[in-house]
Amino acid sequence: MSIFSDSAFDNHEQVVFASDPETGLKAVIAVHNTNLGPSLGGCRMWPYASEQDAIHDVLRLSRGMTYKSALVNLPLGGGKSVIIGDPRSQKTPALFRAVGRAVERLNGRYIVAEDVGTSPADMTEIASQTSHVGGINDGKDPARTGDPSPFTAYGVFIGLKEAVKYKNGSDDLNGMRVAVQGLGNVGFHLCEMLHKAGAELIVADINSVAVERAITELGAKAVSIDEILSVNADILAPCALGGIINDTSIASLKAGIIAGAANNQLEADRHGEVLREMGVLYAPDYVINAGGVVEVHYCRQGRPVSETNSHIESIGATVREIFERADRENKSTGFIADRLAEERFGKKA
Ligand code: NAD
Repeated sequence: MSIFSDSAFDNHEQVVFASDPETGLKAVIAVHNTNLGPSLGGCRMWPYASEQDAIHDVLRLSRGMTYKSALVNLPLGGGKSVIIGDPRSQKTPALFRAVGRAVERLNGRYIVAEDVGTSPADMTEIASQTSHVGGINDGKDPARTGDPSPFTAYGVFIGLKEAVKYKNGSDDLNGMRVAVQGLGNVGFHLCEMLHKAGAELIVADINSVAVERAITELGAKAVSIDEILSVNADILAPCALGGIINDTSIASLKAGIIAGAANNQLEADRHGEVLREMGVLYAPDYVINAGGVVEVHYCRQGRPVSETNSHIESIGATVREIFERADRENKSTGFIADRLAEERFGKKA
């Protein structure tokens, strides 16, 4: 098994293996970088095929959080945790209390939140053992449900509008055709905002109930999941899966702008370079989908939703800086986003 030589290790400050024989907990907590503040990142529960897979995943995800928090100007570093186990059959309250004790032992260097396979109820168990936890809804603010998705959608909306402004000189979405792949928690909220701004929606989801709802409530036009990426649209907003911009899909893209919530939309960095050569403006996913992390931070601080929203609006200026610099330096927007993040968190060579 390799850890220091794992491709995602990238000088992690600390990697902790947490176990608890009574509950069967096997978890890994990775703290990538705390230059800007304590590391924050979700706790993922997943039935990893091997321990190496779990380690690689936590390292990759925690490194990503350093970049995301730095670019959205939060006083936070990057961290993440994974529990090796099946969330459908192996969750117990005691397991999450054991996670809470492991987080507490890190003394605030890592703040845990929800992720794939974990829920607000699990965070409540963790919170019984440590204060270093986010994503807990205290019920004090009705605009806050504990669900970060509407805030993620708002950041994507801001980033998308900035991309339109950069390309067209105006951020007016009236009559613009936006193809949205995935109508889940983020995608549907984004569609509502786009509809309100006058955009025409073209949507696809494997969930026919969500598609029907978009048709009836938002006047969307539905296409099949095989057509959505190549549909005739001004903007493509991927809000379902990663890796959708790849060697197979890239040539058939028709949208001039890609701006969506899905993580890791480009299968490889080189696809960002191809998009640039094609004249497609790509708003890097982790830059514009950071609204949820902003909300977790403000919620933890007990600060109002209005402050979350005004902070999220700063995503517009960041993504514009990335577009301008990418043009000046003839580089892909993803490449520039990474360099800007590294400048902000002070990456050492
Ligand atoms: P979700 O699971 O609620 O929604 C995903 C939707 O995509 C579902 O409706 C699903 O049916 C659909 N889908 C799955 N396969 C599809 C396919 N082949 N074609 C079309 N639709 C398909 O997830 P979410 O919370 O809305 O997140 C969406 C994306 O945004 C994910 O990649 C997630 O990692 C990323 N993201 C989410 C947040 C957040 O706050 N929820 C934050 C940052 C990034």
